Amino acid sequence: MIDQTKQVTLIEGDGIGPEIAAATVAAVAAAGGQVEWERVPAGLAAVEARGTPLPEETLTSIEKNRVALKGPLGTPVGEGFRSVNVGLRQHFDLYANVRPAKTLPGVPSRFTDVDMVIVRENTEGLYSGVEHFIGKRNAAESIAIITREGSERIIRYAFEYASRHARHKVTLVHKANILKMVGGLFLEVGREVAAEYPGIEFNDMIVDATAMRMVIDPQTFDVIVTTNLFGDILSDLAAGLIGGLGVACSANLGTGGCAIFEAVHGTAPDIAGQGIANPTALMLSAVLLLEYLDQDAAANRLRRGIMAALADPEQRMRDLGGTADTATFTRAVIRQMAD
Ligand code: ATP
Repeated sequence: MIDQTKQVTLIEGDGIGPEIAAATVAAVAAAGGQVEWERVPAGLAAVEARGTPLPEETLTSIEKNRVALKGPLGTPVGEGFRSVNVGLRQHFDLYANVRPAKTLPGVPSRFTDVDMVIVRENTEGLYSGVEHFIGKRNAAESIAIITREGSERIIRYAFEYASRHARHKVTLVHKANILKMVGGLFLEVGREVAAEYPGIEFNDMIVDATAMRMVIDPQTFDVIVTTNLFGDILSDLAAGLIGGLGVACSANLGTGGCAIFEAVHGTAPDIAGQGIANPTALMLSAVLLLEYLDQDAAANRLRRGIMAALADPEQRMRDLGGTADTATFTRAVIRQMAD
């Protein structure tokens, strides 16, 4: 085997972060992932160790390695601390948030065959941070910013993702009937980019109709690309279709080939340290990471191991209605890969 070992930044995170990170590191090794982890602190752990939630060494490590796996982070309460997630997003211009939502065996949900990917623009739109009060809090105004450049890079990313992953359709979600300029520009750029990809079906859909269609007929969606606010809401809706945030994984892609992979759930302080946290979401994020590193054999092995362990009622974890703990489930994932 050719040595493809890649150094990857690992932020274990707060709360259940260290437990699910340890499980994921073990599973990646067993899958044959050629990864050397560089551990750096962030979040509450970093405040304790370094006095800041996002130390310079953490940024330097990600800058150098360009790829990171991140556990959930707590944001310190108090003046002067901004969210680490926002800090990372701005520093690395993480413009694409990619959230696959695929039905998982053994995970209770309303549908049996959901398989969609939401590509959310992560830097513009109504979350551009341009807002103010008018008068003495008589009114408030928030400005949605959509640029041609920002729209083009996210829509192009969605089409490139679709071609790389053999997906056949991209649906652009908008509200251009009402938001004629910000929605209209996004849609206009979408049509232009779509014309460059004749092999991939393209359609557009109004966001409210999309929300209804997603809960009635989620199987009709393949890749969805949309603006920040709509993507925020629809990606949680999609997670709900496959069993909730506890099993949802994500990738954040930035300019200059920087990528940060993470579970969607939070630090779960109520169960931290008890050895019962479900590592599925972080393990699935590691699958995306291995694919990103072109280590497809290891990615496929890890995905198969996770799916087989989830499908086995004996290995079902507590949050999914079973009795297995983190160590038992992780051993099952590793054993399934060996079979
Ligand atoms: P934060 O403040 O970091 O967002 P939170 O507890 O408010 O933390 P989540 O961490 O997303 O939000 O957790 C919501 C609920 O889901 C909690 O009861 C938590 O125990 C549970 N949960 C979240 N992730 C997991 C997991 N990986 N395994 C088991 N239970 C989980």
